[in-house]
This record gives sequence, C-alpha cells and structure tokens, in this order.
Amino acid sequence: MRFIVFMLLMVSVQGFSQEFDQFFTDKTLRIDAVFAGNVERKSVVIDELNELPQWAGRRHHLSENHLKGNGTVSLYDLKTQQLIYTHSFSTLYQEWLSTEEAEKISKNFENVFLVPFPKGAVRIEIALIDKKGSYPVVLSQQIDPTDILIHKKGYQSQTPHVLLNRAKEAKKAINVVIVAEGFQQNQMAAFREYAQVTMDEIFAHQPFGQFKDRFNFYAVESVSQDSGVSVPRKNEWKRTAVESNFDTFYSERYLTTGRLKKLHDLLAGIPYEHIIILANTDVYGGGGIYNAYTLTTTGHVNFKPVVVHEFGHSFAGLSDEYFYETDVLSDMQSTALEPWEQNITTLKDFDSKWKDMLVKKTPIPTDVTDSKKYPVGVYEGLAGKKIYKATLDCRMKTNTAKEFCSVCERAISRLIQFYTD
Ligand SMILES: [Zn+2]
Repeated sequence: MRFIVFMLLMVSVQGFSQEFDQFFTDKTLRIDAVFAGNVERKSVVIDELNELPQWAGRRHHLSENHLKGNGTVSLYDLKTQQLIYTHSFSTLYQEWLSTEEAEKISKNFENVFLVPFPKGAVRIEIALIDKKGSYPVVLSQQIDPTDILIHKKGYQSQTPHVLLNRAKEAKKAINVVIVAEGFQQNQMAAFREYAQVTMDEIFAHQPFGQFKDRFNFYAVESVSQDSGVSVPRKNEWKRTAVESNFDTFYSERYLTTGRLKKLHDLLAGIPYEHIIILANTDVYGGGGIYNAYTLTTTGHVNFKPVVVHEFGHSFAGLSDEYFYETDVLSDMQSTALEPWEQNITTLKDFDSKWKDMLVKKTPIPTDVTDSKKYPVGVYEGLAGKKIYKATLDCRMKTNTAKEFCSVCERAISRLIQFYTD
C-alpha cells in the first residue's frame, strides 16, 4: 500500500515540472503593454518585451485561470495552437473607462504582464471583459523568444531587498514583494518596520497564516528623492520611486500609480509576482487591483486592516463587501450577470458561490434580523441593488472586522492551493 502511494506521488511530482519544462525556461518574459482609447474605441498594443533572470510564478495549472478577472493574458504555442499559459488580471484602465472622463477624452495606461519565458515562438492574446460578460480578444500577435530586441533586465544589479519569509519549497512558492514609495534613504529603517508589520498582519489573518510556509516575502528598499507622495489637489508633486499620486480620477483618497514600467524596472531581478507598495504618508488612502498591485499608506491608525483589505483585492480578487450608490454603477457590476468575484453574488449563478456553505433552509436572500441564526447567509449589500454577500462583517467590509468572513477565507485558500498544490 505504501509503495502504491509512493508511486502515485512520483507521478504527480514529475507531472508538475514536465508541464512547465516542455514549453518554458526558468526565466520571465515581461510584456509591457499600452491600453489606450476611450469608451467608444479601445486598443491594446505591445510597448516593449523584456527578459528577467528567473520565473517566480506557478509551474502547473498553466493553462487554467482559477478566477476570471476582468481580463486575461494568454500564450499559445505557435506550432500546435495549444494554450500553454494564461493569467487573469484587472486594470486601472477598465476602472477609468467607467468614469465620465472616458466619454470625453482618450488616454493611455501602462500595463505590465509577467509570463514564463517560452522556448519557441508563441502567439500572445489579451482579452478584456465587456458588459455582456464575454472576453473579446483585443490583441493577438506573435512573439519570437529569440528576438534580439527583447530587453534583458535585472541581470547586473537589483534594488536592495531583504527576504522576510522563506517558503518551504522554492519552486512552489508564491512570491510577494513589498515596495517602498516616498521613503528617502534615511527613512529605510521605518519602511523595513512597516514591511514587517504588513507581512505579520497578513499572516495574522486566516487562511494566510495557515499557508505561511508557501510564501516568500521580500522588502524592496526603493529610494525616493522626496519624502511622501504627490497630492495634486494641493499642488504637491513629489519625486518618488513609482510616482504615485492621490486624486486618481479626481477622487481624493484614491492613491495609484500609472508608472507600471517604472515599478517593474525597480523590481527586475528580484523573484516576484504579487506586489504591495507602501506609501510614506499618514493620509488614509490607497487601492488594490487584482493581479496588478496593492498601494496603501502607512502612517494612519488603520494601516494594518487596510493593507490586508487591499491585498484581498490584489492577491485574491475579492470584492468590497460595502457598496455605495455610485460604486455599484461605476464598478460595471451588472446585476444581470454573476460577478466573477467569489465573495459577492447576484444570485444568477449562486451554485458557483457559497450555496454549499449555507445551513439547510437558510432563506435566500436572508434578512439582516436573522443574522444570529444564519452566520453565513445571503445578505443584501445595498437596499434594492440585488448584490449579496455572505455575512454582516468581514475584512472586505470594515476596518473593525477581526478577520475575513468564511466565504472570503475559503476563496483565498482555494486560490493558494491552485497556485501551490
Ligand atoms: Zn468576506
């Protein structure tokens, strides 16, 4: 019996690496793209291709996406047309398209994608979700991995960085970098402390703590010329590592960076996939974009819950569990479709969400007054809007919640297992 188990284990371990080795080498192809246009006319073009010295993403489930995201980047083997890698994401560009500004003017947004470095020629496809919930292809073209113009980065030198947590198995690790923004050289000790607190706080939340040995965490000491970040409405412009600013889309507290190439350039050579940027300011703000980055501020009292909340967006693609009248509209959450985010439902396909976690005879939707009786239910997010969540409180709802709700917790666990099992 033991022998059989051992044999099975051998087969699965071999399968793990074979899938990767058949098509890829242990390097990263960094694809810099430009997403441009307006509500009417959208385009995606390649800006530059780069080679990074190691691959820091998953090495199995290469042709599957665990979450749909608002877009996908996919590689097809040119000879066989076989899908050999795909990854889902969301972008600031799509958020912008839902603003009034996008009805009047056109704009450019940088996006950077990390894919394993192909051994042979591939076709890359980028697809973006539309209002019907389909994913039309917006870019399709060939990439030749022997192209001499693929820019090699991260080989000679790297931004100083320290390892905060080491995964048990290097090749299965989920690699997270915590990047300094608005910290001058003489403020790096403070940044290192915030980076440590960030990681500790993430691991203090389940299921992250339970999977601690599957994560590498690095603190990246990117130096800024000025201290703090830019606040356009106050006419304060700072020279910082990733040029972030408040007032994104003219929204006071929305702190983002559009300089994705600059961000990824300073990370070149460090093994990374998921990015947390810590901004040196005591003003509350930030955001998290699925498989793009978390950007949050360090100096305010709610730093700890907020950084974990934003990582819930950027790492696990979780939705907010609070809803504002304006958000419901601007997020393009059409209640005619089931959203791909695992912690909300419009009841269009509730079987794909947490229906199996409800106790028998739980009313759908569940009345708030029954929340003691049904700790996991189907509670309306905002009166009359037909978007529902599982519990009354969660890390994805308030800063005072102690943890993720059980639905978020299961969603994060499943994603970690998808990446690492
Ligand atoms: Zn939740």
